[in-house]
Amino acid sequence: MKSHAKVVVIGGGVVGCSVLFHLARAGWTDVVLLERDELTSGSTWHAAGGMHTINGDPNVAKLQKYTIELYKEIEELSGQATGVHVTGGVLLAATEARMDWLRGVVAKGRYLGLDLEEISAEEAHRLMPLIDPKQFVGAVRNSEDGHLDPSGVTQAYAKAARKLGAEVERFTRVEDIKRRPDGQWDVVTNKGTVVAEHVVNAGGLWAREVGRMVGLELPVLAMEHMYLITEDMPEVAEINASTGKEVIHAVDFDGELYLRQERGGMLMGTYEKANQPWSEQVTPWDFGHELLEPDIDRIAPSLEVGFRHFPAFQKTGIKQIINGPFTFAPDGNPLVGPVRGLPGFWCACGVMAGFSQGGGVGLALSNWMIHGDPGFDIWAMDVARYGDWASMAYTNAKVRENYSRRFSIRFPNEELPAGRPLKTTPVYDLLAARGAQFGVAYGLEVPLWYAPAGVKDEFSWRRSSDFSHVAKEVAAVRNGVGLSEISSFAKYRVTGEGAEAWLDRMLACNLPKPGRMTLAPMLKEDGKLIGDFTLARLPAADAGGAPNPDEWLIFGSGIAEQYHMRWFEQHLPVDGSVRVEALGLGRVGLSIAGPEARKVLEKVTKADVSNAAFPFMAVRKMDIGMAPCVVGRVSYTGDLGYELWMAPEYQRAVFHTLMEAGAEFGIGLFGSRALNALRLEKNYGSWAREYRPIYGPLEAGLDRFVAYNKTADFIGKAGAAAEKASGGKLRLRAFVMDADDADVIGDEAIWHGGKVVGWVTSGGYAHNAARSVAMGYVPKAVADKADGFEIELLGKRHRARLQPGALFDADFKRMRG
Ligand SMILES: Cc1cc2nc3c(=O)[nH]c(=O)nc-3n(C[C@H](O)[C@H](O)[C@H](O)COP(=O)(O)OP(=O)(O)OC[C@H]3O[C@@H](n4cnc5c(N)ncnc54)[C@H](O)[C@@H]3O)c2cc1C
Repeated sequence: MKSHAKVVVIGGGVVGCSVLFHLARAGWTDVVLLERDELTSGSTWHAAGGMHTINGDPNVAKLQKYTIELYKEIEELSGQATGVHVTGGVLLAATEARMDWLRGVVAKGRYLGLDLEEISAEEAHRLMPLIDPKQFVGAVRNSEDGHLDPSGVTQAYAKAARKLGAEVERFTRVEDIKRRPDGQWDVVTNKGTVVAEHVVNAGGLWAREVGRMVGLELPVLAMEHMYLITEDMPEVAEINASTGKEVIHAVDFDGELYLRQERGGMLMGTYEKANQPWSEQVTPWDFGHELLEPDIDRIAPSLEVGFRHFPAFQKTGIKQIINGPFTFAPDGNPLVGPVRGLPGFWCACGVMAGFSQGGGVGLALSNWMIHGDPGFDIWAMDVARYGDWASMAYTNAKVRENYSRRFSIRFPNEELPAGRPLKTTPVYDLLAARGAQFGVAYGLEVPLWYAPAGVKDEFSWRRSSDFSHVAKEVAAVRNGVGLSEISSFAKYRVTGEGAEAWLDRMLACNLPKPGRMTLAPMLKEDGKLIGDFTLARLPAADAGGAPNPDEWLIFGSGIAEQYHMRWFEQHLPVDGSVRVEALGLGRVGLSIAGPEARKVLEKVTKADVSNAAFPFMAVRKMDIGMAPCVVGRVSYTGDLGYELWMAPEYQRAVFHTLMEAGAEFGIGLFGSRALNALRLEKNYGSWAREYRPIYGPLEAGLDRFVAYNKTADFIGKAGAAAEKASGGKLRLRAFVMDADDADVIGDEAIWHGGKVVGWVTSGGYAHNAARSVAMGYVPKAVADKADGFEIELLGKRHRARLQPGALFDADFKRMRG
């Protein structure tokens, strides 16, 4: 075994082997994979070998398509058969709600280049005769589904990697990982130590244990999973004989089942409700190529449905039941990328669909390691989407929920209950007492809307029980004043003598003067977005004239706190001249907005908050009632408004102060659904929806905040200039669409001139403007055409008109007045 390597990949399952292959293919050949046993000694060997392109996240779906297309290449390169059979498949719907969901999948598939088609239940039966069409209302045909030999694929990755110069060491168990003084890693094994610049945790079933070696508690849990294989079935033989082909795949969402042919019989797997975690605390090192005891009682309810939906199963015997463990992250997507605070330590774990996703994970990770960027939008798989709050118990609750809901519909207004409430702010119970219905962002309970007694969300793809109540919240803001809790924003404090120069390099905007705020895009080296913030520079002196040290606050997307901290810390100067802290819930917030907001503020502070003294985008410290706060004159509602930030111990006092002062103006509480309705009529985008790392600032309409000519050599300056010169490819646009009882939520297809040209990033009903609004990206060439757009919603194309200006306060009189 070599003593030094650029990269050590820990784990020879399908994921580790894919990472190794991708590194070697990209030219990093000083790489070695360490496997404690034979290759495939984790969950890989007993997988059912199914592969499919669809995924709830379109970007993950793209990487799944890449994975499936890769198999031919690794088979040719390695000379190792992968056993890939692309049979095609049907996705079945037993309810209309499921069919609505599938229609959304088809619409997404159009711009992802997936071959999906809505078909009737009878047509599905014709394609897959084991189906009882009476049990279903419709289906979708998918030409890219199929299956493969799990061991063959893994060996093919490994052999192809070896041919390219990579090494594989079997029976080499990593026992410890230690940081060396020179920043490299000592990877300690039972056969000696390898010094490595980079370490990849592809430990699969042992990913937690490998993480613990460097002090990480990864949010990963293994679950038992069962599938059965039937005796040979005459119906299968008949289909094979009459079509000359294998029986195609089927996913029966409502039965929570998947099926494919296995030799002369069928394989049926289930995601049962009464699921069972495996090795909840520690994975035993001596677990190898053994299977777990099947528990037929646990899957009996699913099998009962299966036997009804696929009647031929009633007449056949079960040859074998396989029960094996495999790992999940709380949301079921992989955990990929560099780990904050551990330079050179990378994750490629929590991959629950290794044969659909392994290739994409390997490609994204190798790009990231070699080029500093995954090259795709992989937010849905980024390990940084979790923070310390994703504890072992939280993970356990969420993984179990996710497993039991693997094939369940999640409606756009449906909040899942497991692992909650976990993080709450001091006003949580005050808001709950006033009817707040909560959702979750980054583990924190956030008010979505306020329901009268006895009313709650009715889950639907269409406008639902909250509609008229959200309309009232919106009206409270636009006609008087509203109050909302804004603690879910991420807040960072930047201090130190080097802060100003560092921010000037990190952010693409001009820095504000003391006492001012600005919108601040942050770019990557390639000039694309990696953040979109509000940057506040606190005044140089306090109200009494005493000087303040230079202090900057950055406000950004709450869900991206770990993601942005990782980026900030990767770019901090080593001399300690800059300090960045994520304030988390050490700083909480409330916001007031609407035409009467200033009058409310005037009543609760001695500070001069007149328009002249405290204009739009001003920021300063002031007492609100008795509580010290930082107040910024800005509001995502696009109205006259203020954001008030305080230490948590003051939040209740500030809440009561504002509510009492606002009573005479009819102050109303509003939640994030009303905020969505308000920001949509201003064409305001947000991080993770409109602003993502695949868009340039010009494409995203943030170019007006980019100081292309500022002296500082900010990160992404050349890339941004190149985008400006070329004009980029896409444009973010807002549309008003003809919609009757449903509004877009995101990921719908945008058509122009009878062709799919783009995708929706978000939308909803803008109650004040009384319009259904969608935001999304379209090619530059059609971006300014007023007519000809349609947006596909629940299987129907709706006329959409470009909405270039804001529907509300287009001349900024309210916001700046
Ligand atoms: C019953 C069942 C059916 C499934 N069906 C499908 C399916 O149809 N389609 C699909 O895509 N997926 C399926 N899966 C899931 C699939 O098996 C996993 O997604 C995949 O195997 C994950 O691969 P991995 O490489 O991440 O982990 P693993 O396969 O667990 O590999 C991890 C490897 O790392 C090694 N290792 C760990 N720690 C160390 C260490 N310290 N030192 C050295 N080596 C170490 C282990 O020995 C192991 O070989 C199924 C899983 C099960 C259990």
